[in-house]
Formats: sequence, structure tokens, C-alpha cells
Amino acid sequence: MTKTTKALLVLEEIHPLIQAKTMPLKTIIRQAKAACVQCQRCTDLCPRYLLGHRIEPHKIMRSLNYAKGEADVLKMTFFCSECGACEQIACPMFLSPRMINGRIKRELIQNGIKPNTSTRMPTAHSMREHRRIPTKRLKIRLGLIRYDRLAPLADLKYQPQVVRIPLSQHIGKPSTPTVELGQIVEKGMLIAQIPENSLGANIHASISGTVVEISKHIVIDSGKKGGNQ
Ligand code: SF4
Ligand code: SF4
Repeated sequence: MTKTTKALLVLEEIHPLIQAKTMPLKTIIRQAKAACVQCQRCTDLCPRYLLGHRIEPHKIMRSLNYAKGEADVLKMTFFCSECGACEQIACPMFLSPRMINGRIKRELIQNGIKPNTSTRMPTAHSMREHRRIPTKRLKIRLGLIRYDRLAPLADLKYQPQVVRIPLSQHIGKPSTPTVELGQIVEKGMLIAQIPENSLGANIHASISGTVVEISKHIVIDSGKKGGNQ
């Protein structure tokens, strides 16, 4: 949990979303090569394509079998936001252009390949307004409709003995620690600050205790001598 965590959704292991998420990429690529019927529905519903960006996921899927390595097609993946509309709503064959795009995009970045830059403002597709995905339909397709109900908050007291606070949990540079190993801190005290001339965020102790680790995290243990909540 970081300050940018909006919500957590806990699903059963057998839920289709978990099954899809845990499917090995090798299997996903094999299925894509064998079952893509080039219907173009993934492109027709792709929000980035509809905004006018240079992405046509059906062509990327086709490139898995044909036109391998065609640079312009592979670079389309840079425009994919990995929203999942293609896999969850569009594809009649239950394929995942999203995961394939993500994989190709990361490989291009690792190999130092950058997206083509253009000063041209994208022009939205004329059908964009008619191809929006209704939220209710999305919940049904994702198998989430039964979780869409009131969830009253329980007033629980939770007092962890140890907290691990990441120094990077925001936009910008990681924060710079202002505390030392072994230092006793009070709840609410500044423990890391924005690096000079940078974008970042200050971080404060969420419990009182002793600083027992400073790495990519600051770990505070309230059970160590001197700590109390
Ligand atoms: S919607 Fe599915 S089957 Fe149709 S082109 Fe896209 S990936 Fe292929
Ligand atoms: S995951 Fe990528 S390709 Fe698929 S609909 Fe979203 S932006 Fe388009």
C-alpha cells in the first residue's frame, strides 16, 4: 500500500481475471498465433486508436505470424495504454493484444528503441462517440457485477509493529532520508524530504519507533527500544 493506492480488490483464485492474469505469456502468444481471425474488433474498440493515435492492435497480432519485426507495426505498441478493452470486451477469441503489446513495448525499450515523434495532433475517429464501453457492460464482462454493492467500512483499530515506507511512492524523484539508522522517531515526524530542485514528496513516519533499515524503504520498528505508538 502506498499513497497512490486507490483501492484493493481481492478475488478468488478461480476468478477468470486471475486465471487470465496468471496465464504464462508463452501460452498467450501461442493462442494469439493460432486463433486470431483478424476481425479487427480489437482495433475498432481500442480507445487509443479511436483518439487518433497510430495503433491498430490487429496488425500487431498479425505481425506475430507474418511481417515479423516490421518496425512501424511494432512501434505501434508504444501507443498502447494496456487498458485491456481489446482482451476483455472486443476479442471474440478471448485473446490478449494487451499483454502482447506490453511485452513487445518493454522489449523495444530494453533495446533502446524509441517511439516515432510527431508534432501532429491526433484526430479522433468519427465513430469514437458511438464506441464507448458502458460501465455496466464492462462490469458484467469482467465478472465483477456481483461485487458492485455497498461495502460498509468496519471501524477496526490496526496498529502494526513494523512499517516499511517506500522512498519512492509518488511522481518525481525518490525522497532523501532525513533520519539515521537507530534514530527514534515520533509518529508524524518528517523522515524523508524532496531532493533539492526536484519534483517529489515529503514522507512522514506513520508510527513512532526506531529506524531499523534505510534502503529503498525506511523501516520503523515500534517494538525496538524507545518505540511506542
Ligand atoms: S479481436 Fe481478437 S481475433 Fe479479432 S483481430 Fe483482434 S486479436 Fe484477432
Ligand atoms: S490494451 Fe492497448 S491495444 Fe488494447 S484496447 Fe487498450 S490501448 Fe488498445
